[in-house]
Amino acid sequence: MTQKVTDAKEQQQASAQQVNIFAAKEIANFVRSTLGPMGMDKMLVDQDGSSMVTNDGATILRQMNITHPTAKMIIEVARTQEETCYDGTTSSIIITGELMKQAEALLSKKIHPTMIVKGFKLAANKAEDLLQNIALDSGKSLLTVAQTAMTGKSAESDKALLADICVDVAQSAKLSDISIIKRPGGKVSDSVAIAGLLVDKSKVHHSMPDVIEDAKITLIDIDITLPEFAKELQVQVHNNDAVEEFITKRKQQLQSLAQVIIDSGANVVLCLRDIDGLVVEYLAKHGIYAARRVAKSDMEAVHKATGARIVSAIDDLVNADLGTCGLLEEVQINDEPLIKLTKTPHNQAVSVLLRAPTKHTVDEVGRAFDDAIGVVSLASEGKVLAGGGSAYMYLSLQLKEFARTVGGRSQMAVEAFADALEIIPSTLAENSGLDPLDTLIALRQAHTADDKDSPYYGVNVYEGGVINMLQDGVIEPMKVISQGIQSATETAAMVLRIDNIITSKNISEIGEDGYQY
Ligand code: ADP
Ligand code: MG
Repeated sequence: MTQKVTDAKEQQQASAQQVNIFAAKEIANFVRSTLGPMGMDKMLVDQDGSSMVTNDGATILRQMNITHPTAKMIIEVARTQEETCYDGTTSSIIITGELMKQAEALLSKKIHPTMIVKGFKLAANKAEDLLQNIALDSGKSLLTVAQTAMTGKSAESDKALLADICVDVAQSAKLSDISIIKRPGGKVSDSVAIAGLLVDKSKVHHSMPDVIEDAKITLIDIDITLPEFAKELQVQVHNNDAVEEFITKRKQQLQSLAQVIIDSGANVVLCLRDIDGLVVEYLAKHGIYAARRVAKSDMEAVHKATGARIVSAIDDLVNADLGTCGLLEEVQINDEPLIKLTKTPHNQAVSVLLRAPTKHTVDEVGRAFDDAIGVVSLASEGKVLAGGGSAYMYLSLQLKEFARTVGGRSQMAVEAFADALEIIPSTLAENSGLDPLDTLIALRQAHTADDKDSPYYGVNVYEGGVINMLQDGVIEPMKVISQGIQSATETAAMVLRIDNIITSKNISEIGEDGYQY
């Protein structure tokens, strides 16, 4: 009887593990073809048929309609990686999948999951220390770091210019004060960085001023017009006078609406929605600058930089709601108008205007640029490593040495962990049409050669074979790699510890004491 119970339990455990390992491997398989500069793109299509082409691991996984709970947990790795490091999402997912694959082999040798977890964690901690041996100061390499982050993305052909912009802005402003404006219909080489906050809009009336010094700004997030009910009121027309009277009354109401804005002391109106034509006239007459249909993100950026409150009831608008800035002007960039705010009291905003031919490309360039800017700021705060799989190969070889000192069953898990890290150089090779095995052999040789540069050898994705990645200018922040390994390990450990998948009540109904209510 007892034997039977144990058998059943083991079976249950094994099947939960199989399902979880399968889910992890599937997700890794799905994104692996996008890794590296020669990686392919994915086209994501939603139910309405709208599509998006991207090479960005985090974007792919975010957009995919995934319902499997374990798969969702694994996708969390990508999110953490993106939030903390801006890059390295595909790599961390691939490593998670490979760790699970290695774990599968260990489980089949009857090594207990807890033992595997222990070995993996030991190896991950050791890896963290080992990386210090090959880490370099980021000093002069920021441009290279920016370029590496953009390699293989749509931004690739103009990466030198974009990298310049990237380093320029990352060094002159905090990440949260950098605003990125994407405008299709131009060349990527027309992209520019501008000191100040840019808002991609122009004035609603030609007679409004182009320059406002000492701007007093109001942000309004509703239509500046009469309320719906007043517009739709049925008028019984008995004679012309009644029509006249109705029109005059409406004009007066709109005028007093504009007057509230004028009385508040505002000389700039930025509206999230539309502004009634008559209100526009009054504002223009009073020399007030107004723009409509301003993006929500721009409204928020102006709020942050100038202190303007976002107002939803115009009748209540008062002077205290206004934000200030030393200079607001309408400028022409690439022959198109934009609003530029400088001398803002709350921050020193910097803007980047990104251009590309189509909406698809400008969005993808935007994603690559976003990553690059984050990665540059990360690199400038810490150390950097050579890319192209070199750091993983270094770790793999060193961890195998380390495994020998561990002994016992954990040793096998440390070795398995070391093997798993080879998946990055091996996938980079595979995606470039190279033979992964030959490349790994050549890499191992280069890494064990008696050469001070041996730890920096990685995959030459363009010509085959191996190459010194430092000389080739492929450099990444250390944190991208170390965090990627750590979170892959954490996730693998979490998934391995699951021995049962049970359909439960809504998790949010489970109390802090663990009981369901
Ligand atoms: P991730 O989402 O993990 O950042 P990427 O598709 O951006 O995935 O690929 C990153 C990998 O590509 C890193 O391992 C990086 O070192 C490598 N890589 C980038 N540029 C080159 C290059 N020129 N040669 C070889 N490897 C490169
Ligand atoms: Mg990347």
